[in-house]
Amino acid sequence: MNLQTDLASIPGIGLKFSARLKKLGIKTVKDLLWHFPFRYEDYTKIVPIGELAINQSATIKGQIHQISTRRTWKKNLLITEAIIVDETGGIKAVWFNQPYVNNILREGNYYNFAGKVTGSKREIYLASPSYEPIEARGETKHTAGLIPIYPETRGLTSKGLRYLIKPILKNLEPIEDFIPEEILKENKFPDINLALKRIHFPLQAMDAENAKKRFAFENLFLLQLNNLKIRSRLAEKKTAPIKITQDEIPKIIGQLPFQLTNSQKISLEEIMADIQHPHPMNRLLQGDVGSGKTVIAAIAAILAAKNDLQAVFMAPTEVLAGQHYRTITKTFDKFNKGIALLTANKSELDYGDKLNAKISKNKLLKEIESGNVKIIVGTHAVIQKGVKFNNLSLAIVDEQHRFGVAQRAALANQSNQEISPHFLSMSATPIPRTLSLTVFGDLDLSTITELPAGRKEIITKIVAPENRLKAYAFIREQVKKGRQTFVICPRIEPGAVKEGEILTEAKKKALELKSVKEEFEKLSTKIFPDLKVVMLHGKMKGKEKDQIMKDFQDKKYDILVSTSVIEVGVDVPNATIMMIEGAERFGLAQLYQFRGRVGRGEHQSFCLLFTDSDSENVQTRLNYLLTAKNGFELAEKDLLIRGPGQFLGQEQTGLPDVAMDALKDIQLVKVSRDAAKNVLSNDPELKNYPALATKFSEFQKEIHLE
Ligand code: ADP
Ligand code: MG
Repeated sequence: MNLQTDLASIPGIGLKFSARLKKLGIKTVKDLLWHFPFRYEDYTKIVPIGELAINQSATIKGQIHQISTRRTWKKNLLITEAIIVDETGGIKAVWFNQPYVNNILREGNYYNFAGKVTGSKREIYLASPSYEPIEARGETKHTAGLIPIYPETRGLTSKGLRYLIKPILKNLEPIEDFIPEEILKENKFPDINLALKRIHFPLQAMDAENAKKRFAFENLFLLQLNNLKIRSRLAEKKTAPIKITQDEIPKIIGQLPFQLTNSQKISLEEIMADIQHPHPMNRLLQGDVGSGKTVIAAIAAILAAKNDLQAVFMAPTEVLAGQHYRTITKTFDKFNKGIALLTANKSELDYGDKLNAKISKNKLLKEIESGNVKIIVGTHAVIQKGVKFNNLSLAIVDEQHRFGVAQRAALANQSNQEISPHFLSMSATPIPRTLSLTVFGDLDLSTITELPAGRKEIITKIVAPENRLKAYAFIREQVKKGRQTFVICPRIEPGAVKEGEILTEAKKKALELKSVKEEFEKLSTKIFPDLKVVMLHGKMKGKEKDQIMKDFQDKKYDILVSTSVIEVGVDVPNATIMMIEGAERFGLAQLYQFRGRVGRGEHQSFCLLFTDSDSENVQTRLNYLLTAKNGFELAEKDLLIRGPGQFLGQEQTGLPDVAMDALKDIQLVKVSRDAAKNVLSNDPELKNYPALATKFSEFQKEIHLE
């Protein structure tokens, strides 16, 4: 038997069972063995029945005095009950809908039972315990030692899985370990064969820990190899160097209406140092919302254009693309090399003379292909078929975590295989350190650590339901002073209830969520009938959204009610209140982004978090937003609470769970990085590690990084 063996071909696995396994995607021995327990029950001690306490997980040893099965008429459940007795007392064991237990267990015989003591003060019982005849075999699968508990799935019990896995582990041909031996030794990791045994059947807690660590390490190690490979491959690729002369930088910066902050300067220098090389840059520019990333990227684009090379600036939404386009054309007024806006609905071109503002899409595409346009700002539209660049040398991607790896690759490969543009991505979601060392480990980092001078701290408050009216009064006061307000809601339309529909708790919750339309109605007609209220959501057309955003920026409205579409990047310095409905529905990183929409001008700004939830969890989580010193701190918290998914592009979340967990372990991350470096520095092609080479190429395909 080996890892590829089809489970259906193993004697003893019934058709029904293998069908259930298949539903879980478990077809081969390998699939099954890599279906890891998620926890272990410690049944190491046999507890006298007389000493059992409620809520305890325990193993008992006793004789069955009586066993029977009955049907409850209320819930139509089959209940099997047994009375188990030892010298110290007796206890009932109960199984639900497992009538076969009644046929297996015999009155008068002795068994081990393991399970949780449940019930009330009045009466306790063992709930669906595992059982095993005593003296049947020397070895026990179910009731002695640490018992693996697998994620419960319909028709597949932990017990069933244990029965299945144990003999397979015994009969399996030894597996060749792809982790080099020296790495195993150095880190005291069990080899693959031992690790598999121990993760399913640990003798003690440490065994399971070590085995888990080893599997987590595997994924990190492969990720690190991948990062280093990407780095070295990029270093081999060519790109047009962007030449920069000494005197041109002060000239460009001189056009800005402000002084760059220190860390903006440092980031700009790091970028300039990279793009002068004939090999592509691959850099992530991160900085808090409002820290001024756009202008740094724009300067890099201008530098490319001055070299008669093209730069593309890709934003996640039409609103943002339009905003960037306007910023660049406005700020660098005297620059007349051709700046274009290209989105699904819009094509504009600006040669500095403002004569060519509107242009048909086809014409614009020709201008891009001919190389007349130097800077192209847009959405996904810029990587769609039909867009051909003439000499793309710099690709900038704003809020890059929103883009999948594939899209990044599409931009990078626009030209051809040997030539790849410089790549600059930007993100206001600070990437936790473990992630920047792993998933984003192929990138160099520049960080803007400070906000432009004069920004005031945003006063953040969690508002209890009873203080809602006070909050509205406060908003009115601010509007009277000339300020504007954002209101963010988690949904677009009020949830509809079908006739006769039974409301689940989840559905009730969803219904209670403030929807944009409802909230807009309420605010515009009841609460603020005298103020100018407008609504914005993702189902609107790009044009419409742009117009609303522009009008809001131009102070034509006082209050903008919106979904999370305004989450990223939008700049309205006059807005001073960010009010968030259903705040518990959003992740910390996202709330942080919302808050960053205000506090961009000279006025004191406020963030009001509304929640009807008084759950301690929610309150604690929201409180982080009040106390965290910076985005990094929040990002680390969010990573622990919600996992790494939200920091990654969609394509990247294909990582297995163990890998996702491992992404939280900084020590292991560092170890994996060193290990990968060592291996590659001695043997860049992995010639001496054939098993590793094979595994690595499989891994690359799996996570779509190829
Ligand atoms: P983000 O990093 O969130 O993308 P932006 O680039 O949108 O931030 O910048 C936010 C605002 O700050 C913009 O209005 C921009 O013009 C302004 N800004 C950028 N850098 C500075 C600076 N050094 N001093 C003052 N204002 C700045
Ligand atoms: Mg931005």
